Amino acid sequence: MILHTNNHTYKYESEKICRIYFPAEKIIFACDNEELPFDSKTVVTEIQEEAGTLIFSCKAQIDGKSEEYSFSYEKDEKDNESLRERLLAKAVTKVLTAITGIVPPWGLLTGVRPAKLMRKYINTDGEVKAKEIFISFFEVTPEKTELAFEVANYENTCIRMSGKNSFSLYISIPFCPTRCSYCSFVSHSIDKAKKLIPDYINNLCREIEETARIAKELSLSLETVYIGGGTPTSFSAQALKIITSALNESFDMKNVREFTVEAGRPDTIDEEKLSVLKEAGVSRISINPQTFSDSVLEAIGRKHTGKDTEEKYFLARKLGFNNINMDFIAGLPTDSFEGFKKSLDRAVELSPENITVHTLALKRSASIVTENGTDDICTETERMVEYANKVLSENGYHPYYMYRQSKSVGNLENVGWCKKDKPCLYNIYMMEEIHTVLAVGGAAVTKLKDPDSDSLQRVYNFKYPYEYITRFSEIIERKDEIRRFYQGT
Ligand code: SF4
Repeated sequence: MILHTNNHTYKYESEKICRIYFPAEKIIFACDNEELPFDSKTVVTEIQEEAGTLIFSCKAQIDGKSEEYSFSYEKDEKDNESLRERLLAKAVTKVLTAITGIVPPWGLLTGVRPAKLMRKYINTDGEVKAKEIFISFFEVTPEKTELAFEVANYENTCIRMSGKNSFSLYISIPFCPTRCSYCSFVSHSIDKAKKLIPDYINNLCREIEETARIAKELSLSLETVYIGGGTPTSFSAQALKIITSALNESFDMKNVREFTVEAGRPDTIDEEKLSVLKEAGVSRISINPQTFSDSVLEAIGRKHTGKDTEEKYFLARKLGFNNINMDFIAGLPTDSFEGFKKSLDRAVELSPENITVHTLALKRSASIVTENGTDDICTETERMVEYANKVLSENGYHPYYMYRQSKSVGNLENVGWCKKDKPCLYNIYMMEEIHTVLAVGGAAVTKLKDPDSDSLQRVYNFKYPYEYITRFSEIIERKDEIRRFYQGT
């Protein structure tokens, strides 16, 4: 697709809107006076200013169909970049909806955090007006508006638990048994990276110790811990013991409200590993079916069956885990509405404390896009997500956190559902950027949050395990950023 724009400032927003309609499309920008190259999909956007009036317009030609739309806006005191961006998005949406017949459920909203935006409007304009803004200005459907509202309300209780000095800790283990076809993360195959593991663990423990030293120096209070990845349980029971011991010995864990470990892939879980986690104080784990259909699991490159997931779930219950999450994905290749419904109904019967429903996202580096092609992708994603929302609400689950990803099929959302009083606090704090998240390990990103403003500073670790090991001294040096941020130097 060619996206032509006369204004650089708004080109990414227009691109995001085009992605809602064509998630797997490669979009090439053509700006200002560049000659328009030919493509069967071409979108042209323009903002013109004439004597205090702004004219927003969009023309598109998509596979032989063409449409155009423009409207004017009298400049007033509300005029700013963000408003112009929205108004241009409105023109693009009008045209692409007319051509494709697709009405995006989230309207003009392309951001990752709709609940955060809802909370902002609730605080400034009140509940009724906030919903009205979503529906009338952002063109969000009443159902999605209600969902954002419910999440925002639920989150408030958890946000109030976070104090001025609160922080969460994220420990990254970017290794997995095999690569899922939809994965765009840097996760490494545990077999191929075998040689790196001892050094990785050694450095990870040193980084945990150093981070704990800094947190203590700054009198920060640890609220939640999340060991994620990848699949942390790709590591042996012994390795998990070393890492969790380093954590428990280094940090003051007495105020920790929640300690999660992603035990995502059932084929990595056994009794010994779960026992190590239990003994280390882990209070919540994720065992992620994604689907209970064996043929869909095979199509996405996961080497386990639906039955394996159930067995590992029962094993975790037997060992005393009373807070378990299960992730599902709507729109997986070769899946169908009936297949998704069956998977979700089974999850409801199993009754884990959390169920997270993601929408498939077509990330550029995922093999689903680069190798397999997108032909097999289920076309009933919207119906699946609607079913999930209905069945989970009817069975005592509450939507407690939410985010959206670019390139998600149907421009839908990912929602975490929880049983009463069982939200994952870390997910809320991290997604809504409530407090600092200190992150350790390869591909980890520390997010330093000023408790008195929205200001956020990121400190990046090296992405790949090899660099994480060989350039470790640089990672330790970067920890000074945390001191500087809190001490204001
Ligand atoms: S388990 Fe997660 S991180 Fe690992 S390959 Fe699959 S999607 Fe990627």
